[in-house]
Amino acid sequence: MILVRGGTVVTSRWSGRADVLVDGETIRAVGLDLAAGGSRVIDATGRLVFAGGVDPHVHMALPIGGGLRSSDDFSTGTRAALSGGTTTIIDFVTPVPGEALERAVEHRLVEAAGSLCDYALHVSVVSWGDRTADEMKACVDAGYSSFKVYLAYKERGLGLADGDLLGVLEAASALDAVVLGHCENGDAVSHLQRRLVGRGDRAPRFHALSRPPEVEVEAVGRAIALAGIAGCRLYVVHVSTAGAAQAIARARAAGQEVHGEVCPHHLVLDSGCYERPEREAAAFVMSPPLRPASEPPQLWNALARGTLETVATDHCPFLRRDRERDLADFTRIPNGVGGVEHRLALLWTFGVGAGRFDASRFVALACEAPARIMGLYPRKGALEPGSDADIVVWDPDRERTITAATQVQRCDTCVYEGLRVRGRAETVLLRGRVVVSRGEVERDLAPGRLLRRGPGQSRPAPQATL
Ligand SMILES: [Zn+2]
Repeated sequence: MILVRGGTVVTSRWSGRADVLVDGETIRAVGLDLAAGGSRVIDATGRLVFAGGVDPHVHMALPIGGGLRSSDDFSTGTRAALSGGTTTIIDFVTPVPGEALERAVEHRLVEAAGSLCDYALHVSVVSWGDRTADEMKACVDAGYSSFKVYLAYKERGLGLADGDLLGVLEAASALDAVVLGHCENGDAVSHLQRRLVGRGDRAPRFHALSRPPEVEVEAVGRAIALAGIAGCRLYVVHVSTAGAAQAIARARAAGQEVHGEVCPHHLVLDSGCYERPEREAAAFVMSPPLRPASEPPQLWNALARGTLETVATDHCPFLRRDRERDLADFTRIPNGVGGVEHRLALLWTFGVGAGRFDASRFVALACEAPARIMGLYPRKGALEPGSDADIVVWDPDRERTITAATQVQRCDTCVYEGLRVRGRAETVLLRGRVVVSRGEVERDLAPGRLLRRGPGQSRPAPQATL
């Protein structure tokens, strides 16, 4: 048994002095002055204690064609996650053309077995045919209860036409599954890309001009409308504009179940990064792109108000040499940035530290809401008796500077390079095992566990208080 003693426990609804008693893989008790008995004691005096982070949107070893993959595999990427206080990730299964969803799951499971934190998988549905609904049911029956759809990337075989999208949403609704939507109007993006490239505007900074805010706002509105027709729960990934957040707010006010996610890069960076020299600017090519400086404050407000509910990283780093292979054409630069390691520190520093919301909201955004929406709560994302003993002992004041040279994630660049942050995961427990101590990930770690899931919950469950 382990007793985490003397810290300030933070959940989404309360915080206060409490000890946490761990028995094997689960939390046995949370309360004042718990008896240590023969337990190993972890002193959390002066520290915060909260449930392990849940990052519901990452792409480890993502194949993007030409033999290229994102630079973190499941082992290196989840080691980085643990170092930053995230104990559960949800990655994606992406079928190749013609591949049945269940087969695609089997293939991805082989890669995901290298994970060092606990993990689950969303299943991307990239085409709609006679067998798709049955394949989706087989996935849900096997514990994969969330699906991903793309309103962009038709040219890569990922995007769905609206009718096919509606088919997926109806099938998901019948299965009580949530659908994650990548919402950008792909046809409009393709048109703008062709026009920019055709007139010689090919530098990395034109990436942002090929995906203006309107392509997101339009697609979010369309996805909400189609999800409304289907009666399907919708989770909009990487919301990057105030317009999209407002569309989500309107739908929620009208009673529709729509959830919105924001990524740290859209919160702490802006499109000024594209004005840097070409080589540097290429590091910020991601979709949706960084937005003008007027947008991030509005995203922060939406997170504080509850319109937007989760912060996930869309972790998808690429090595500098892979990014710079096709510098001369922004449409050929791999899309994506890393962040799984830095999510909690960024949210703590620029959210709580900047006075935008309190520690309970921080825990809701980074731990509880992702678990709840994705069907992992209260096993994950909760610090209460019976939950998995995934526990972060957080030093709220520890300062450091983010730099690629010292980060754990496998990438030789970092979009947060030079940013000063506060807060560090000092000790991390994964199902009762100490996986991080004094801020360092243990050398030898047991494999993480695959999490099979039921349907998620749209509303917070009542939570016991002390
Ligand atoms: Zn993504």
